[in-house]
Amino acid sequence: MQTDTKFEAPFIGINRHRIGVDGEGITTLAAFHECPLHCRYCLNSRCLDSEASVLQYTPESLYQKLLIDDLYFIATGGGVCFGGGEPLLRPDFIRQFHALCGERWRITIETSLNVPIASVQKIVPLTNVFIIDIKDMNEAIYTSYTRQSNSHVIENLKWLSANFNRDNIIIRVPLILEYNNENDVERSIKQLQKFGFTRFDRFTYIIR
Ligand code: SF4
Repeated sequence: MQTDTKFEAPFIGINRHRIGVDGEGITTLAAFHECPLHCRYCLNSRCLDSEASVLQYTPESLYQKLLIDDLYFIATGGGVCFGGGEPLLRPDFIRQFHALCGERWRITIETSLNVPIASVQKIVPLTNVFIIDIKDMNEAIYTSYTRQSNSHVIENLKWLSANFNRDNIIIRVPLILEYNNENDVERSIKQLQKFGFTRFDRFTYIIR
């Protein structure tokens, strides 16, 4: 069993007994620290704070911690949702974790998808569900809101559409105050439909 501390990763929190927010069954959210984006209304701004206090886990120590809910996961078809922050900054950690839990636990990845395609390809074989927050498909809006290009996002969406079960991809398309409007949201959904996606979660970002 791999316990090499080179796989140690920082987390901002572990949230147990979630129902109906990360897909099927009872889930635990494991939220990584760090994210490549700088969203104006980031819901987890501690992810972006290099001084934030974090919890360090190896895949083994995280697995041991989450084992307490093994029966809940198995009985409900739930499992672990990796979020953050950006979980796809840590594909090797997730692969090591999956080597420990195997197929018993459903793995959901909650991601912006703004990472190199190789990171996506690494975790596709072990992922049951993707929840992807695309912000807005319009590059100018996206860049204004996140301070990054969305070229990785578009490339990865196209690749996933061709190489992953689209029924297991939920795409969040938010209305973002001062950055986009209902027409922009509609345009994003139409573009995503052309890529073959059918499951969308429309919502409005809550500004705190
Ligand atoms: S992608 Fe998520 S964690 Fe990253 S900056 Fe945006 S809202 Fe925050």
